[in-house]
Amino acid sequence: MFMATPAVPADIDTDAMSGQRPLMDHATIMICKTLLVEAGKDLANDYNTTVPGYQAAATQDPALRWDVYVNHYKDLARAQKDPKFVYDVDGFDFTRINNQTAVPTGATPKGILYPRAGVLRGCVTHNALIWIEPKDSDWSNIQQMTGDDSWNPTNMRDNHLNSKFYDWQVTMPSDPTILVRDIKLAKHLLGGAAQVGLGFSPVSALTGLGEALLVSPNGGYPGRDSAEGFFQIPLIMNGGERQSVRERIVGTVDSGYPIPIMTNTFVTKINFRPDRKSGKPGAKGVSYPKR
Ligand SMILES: Cc1cc2nc3c(=O)[nH]c(=O)nc-3n(C[C@H](O)[C@H](O)[C@H](O)COP(=O)(O)OP(=O)(O)OC[C@H]3O[C@@H](n4cnc5c(N)ncnc54)[C@H](O)[C@@H]3O)c2cc1C
Repeated sequence: MFMATPAVPADIDTDAMSGQRPLMDHATIMICKTLLVEAGKDLANDYNTTVPGYQAAATQDPALRWDVYVNHYKDLARAQKDPKFVYDVDGFDFTRINNQTAVPTGATPKGILYPRAGVLRGCVTHNALIWIEPKDSDWSNIQQMTGDDSWNPTNMRDNHLNSKFYDWQVTMPSDPTILVRDIKLAKHLLGGAAQVGLGFSPVSALTGLGEALLVSPNGGYPGRDSAEGFFQIPLIMNGGERQSVRERIVGTVDSGYPIPIMTNTFVTKINFRPDRKSGKPGAKGVSYPKR
């Protein structure tokens, strides 16, 4: 999603905008006039995108799927050694891993599938809802690479993830009662627990497992980044519905910040111009095809 102040259609231009903001929650609060430009639609009432259990269906939903193909190597021959490399064969996708045959003569190389979601809310609309906080070393690496100390792990975890900025991102554990409804899964997990030395009492195995699965892997407690064990998987949902940045956008509008939202608007160019004051080039607007 791109942010800009509203102006004429087809070429949005702004001097008030200080560049593309990496975190939309900052932008919505800090910029008085914000236009949110989104290539896809708003699929608010599409069950594929709201029901967590339909995640696999969401990844295949033509209303939002963007099949992007990437190459991991400049050398195409090397890239094609990957059995997941996709070819077009008479309009159908072919991969060695799925088709279990040699690549047919005349197949057109496409690349490695990199699924994206072109929709208001982006890829969190089709992802597996799993919300795991990064390790401290991830933040420290960014801190070192950028030379910006505000990326330090404590600041990022305590001030960004866990309090002011992401307080809107509700997470919930998957329903532990699944253990009594899916005995195969329960046995599988109990076997795993025994393997890592969590010997639940045979008389209260399911309760013990259920309690263990309520332990969150997030939160930054000492030793968290290397701790082994059984943890719940925190999911970005609320009351059984997928909930993420789209709901944040709608909530922001509902709470009195009327952000205009342009959906179905595919930005083709980010326009740079020297800043009036500093003279340094900066992103000053975007272009998109007229609809
Ligand atoms: C199948 C699958 C499962 C996943 N599961 C998980 C998981 O469980 N947990 C996890 O943490 N991560 C998961 N991921 C990864 C994660 O969802 C993505 O990395 C993340 O959502 C990317 O966020 P983003 O904001 O960087 O980009 P995106 O979510 O891709 O957002 C980009 C937005 O910009 C819009 N856009 C793009 N180009 C233009 C343009 N030219 N003009 C206008 N708008 C444009 C798009 O429509 C989209 O709304 C999964 C990914 C996939 C594919």
